[in-house]
Amino acid sequence: TAAIIDGKSIAGEIMSRIACEVWRMKESIGRVPGLAVIMVGQRRDSQTYVRNKIKACEETGIKSSMTELHGNCKEDEVVNVLSRFNADPSIHGILLQLPLPQHLDEEKILDVMSLEKDVDGFHPLNIGNLAMRGRQPLFIPCTPKGCIELLMRSGVEIMGKKAVVIGRSNIVGLPTSLLLQRHHATVSIVHAFTKNPEQITCEADIVVTAAGVPNLVRGNWLKPGAVVIDVGTNPIEDPSCEFGYRLTGDVCYEEAVRVASAVTPVPGGVGPMTIAMLLSNTLDSAKRAYDFT
Ligand code: NAD
Repeated sequence: TAAIIDGKSIAGEIMSRIACEVWRMKESIGRVPGLAVIMVGQRRDSQTYVRNKIKACEETGIKSSMTELHGNCKEDEVVNVLSRFNADPSIHGILLQLPLPQHLDEEKILDVMSLEKDVDGFHPLNIGNLAMRGRQPLFIPCTPKGCIELLMRSGVEIMGKKAVVIGRSNIVGLPTSLLLQRHHATVSIVHAFTKNPEQITCEADIVVTAAGVPNLVRGNWLKPGAVVIDVGTNPIEDPSCEFGYRLTGDVCYEEAVRVASAVTPVPGGVGPMTIAMLLSNTLDSAKRAYDFT
């Protein structure tokens, strides 16, 4: 059966290293990294993500500040808050929790974010630089970066391997496919319009799934020995669980463990890595701002 890639413990190691670095920064220049989180509206899942991010900041000594805006606030209000953090030298990372309510223009608002503080890596210039050979983005989006870290820290070679990314969203699928190419994989992208997705997926040495569809990837979609990174975080109703639902990935886990050589669990795989990468990006940003090495 497949090895389980323990994202929670790998993320824990990364967080300890970040905590040391934050401490070293505080000792030598008397400053700590600062992350500003902006949440618009009251989506339950967003609230959980934001709470986890703030808790992780506390654990590593990163200063965090939280701004909650009403779900039907105007675009100007979000832009004003963003601009205030853009100008605040004690803030090195700004996180606008997505998705925004329908009436707000996500693209327009993201354009306002200072490139130097875009720790989520969603600014079009960051994505553009990620896509172009020879260029370096200031920040790599957290979930895709977390997927690559999981592969590398599990000793999986990426160079020359066939990789399939399922999903092509701006925040996960697309940047993950770009990042895998940067690591010299041969990348195919499977999305909602792809015909015979199982045939394409079946050829991959590395499969990253971010479709948001529970049990999409069955055992017979996988090449024996493939490495599977499951980004999917899908709530399934379950009255026996604390909040009335539990989380499941895009991969049929019981089947995958019999075919793959390594699999990430949900929860406890990619999720904790996303948070660790957010803190890592925030630390990098503060180091850049203070010219601290
Ligand atoms: P999205 O809805 O924006 O994009 C989904 C993508 O999957 C689309 O490109 C679509 O074409 C593709 N897709 C949909 N149905 C498909 C199908 N049947 N076959 C093949 N492709 C299909 O979603 P997203 O924001 O990219 O998130 C994807 C999943 O990852 C969700 O479950 C989300 O909760 C999860 N997620 C997890 C983390 C984390 O940190 N673990 C972070 C972000 C998103």
